[in-house]
Amino acid sequence: MRTYRIAAIPGDGIGTEVIDAGVEVLNACAGREGTFAIAFDHFDWGSARYKRTGAFMPDDGREQIKGHDAILFGSAGVPDVPDHVTLWGLRLAICQPFDQYANVRPTRILPGITSPLRAVSGPELDWVIVRENSEGEYSGVGGRVHRGLPEEVATDVSMFTRTGVERIMRFAFDLARSRPRKLLTVVTKSNAQRHGMVLWDEIAAEVARGYPDVSWDKMLVDAMTMRMTLRPQTIDTVVATNLHADILSDLAAALAGSLGIAPTANLNPERRFPSMFEPIHGSAFDIMGKGIANPVGTFWSGVMMLEHLGEPAAAARLMRAIERVTADPSLHTPDLGGRATTADVTAAVCRALAADNL
Ligand code: ATP
Repeated sequence: MRTYRIAAIPGDGIGTEVIDAGVEVLNACAGREGTFAIAFDHFDWGSARYKRTGAFMPDDGREQIKGHDAILFGSAGVPDVPDHVTLWGLRLAICQPFDQYANVRPTRILPGITSPLRAVSGPELDWVIVRENSEGEYSGVGGRVHRGLPEEVATDVSMFTRTGVERIMRFAFDLARSRPRKLLTVVTKSNAQRHGMVLWDEIAAEVARGYPDVSWDKMLVDAMTMRMTLRPQTIDTVVATNLHADILSDLAAALAGSLGIAPTANLNPERRFPSMFEPIHGSAFDIMGKGIANPVGTFWSGVMMLEHLGEPAAAARLMRAIERVTADPSLHTPDLGGRATTADVTAAVCRALAADNL
């Protein structure tokens, strides 16, 4: 029997609560399937470690997890450490060297969940947003000089490379092709940004020639926010830059009912390094320790992890179990207007997984 080795990095805030829940559900799923097992190694990397030692992870941290089959990540961030320090110290310190350049964010309205969009009840909203995850506006290139002086200057340079844009476009076209509608929207801002974004558009058109069976269109990011809210049924697969997709996917998560539900995968498609799976929400310090964090975003990220590991039957079973639970309003956490706890939802998903009629 195959045993997958997973690095669990709960991080900060509610990250620890949802990862505990995720580990329980994934173990239950593997046990029910009976054809594979999951061995979790836990890493206490995060802000507490940073405050104690000055580093979020050990110097050889990446070496420690390089050989794992995948990474399950919670969230990183505490109120008294600047967000950019945390982001570059942990999440990006894993994503970038492991070349997890494709960030995939599915959005659907799960059964029992109400979208804030009046005209949308379910099938009208079924999207996958592909975020370029290695360069663009978050390349880290730039600098700051003359600190504190009136002539202080700060720059962040957006980097768009032919290699980087080509590979994310191919990934997005392949993903669009694998979905029934074969429909891709390329988000851009080439009217205002006339170098990097024009290269982005040109490469999209070049790559599109290899996918005659995929219909694609191009949309300015500002217009895209309106299309997502007013004509959600016209969208299927979306590809956007690091910054644009960061913003659009939070909008998507809110339109699907709650930030607590949305999953994401940071993929190294060539599998030279482990890929990382995480709920898109942050540490949510306002609800930390109360036992009411919605674990569904982590469970759905677990579904994506099982798909990536090559366990489609287990992934589909876990997704059905999640949907059975969301369909019951008595199992909704407070972010969805309910009164259930993290433990209630976790136990219900484990029960659903065990059921013969799932
Ligand atoms: P960070 O800076 O780490 O991104 P944040 O608190 O600014 O953290 P999020 O954690 O992403 O932002 O969430 C914003 C709000 O959404 C939270 O304050 C919380 O109330 C709610 N929220 C997010 N995730 C969940 C969840 N899993 N369950 C319930 N509520 C959630």
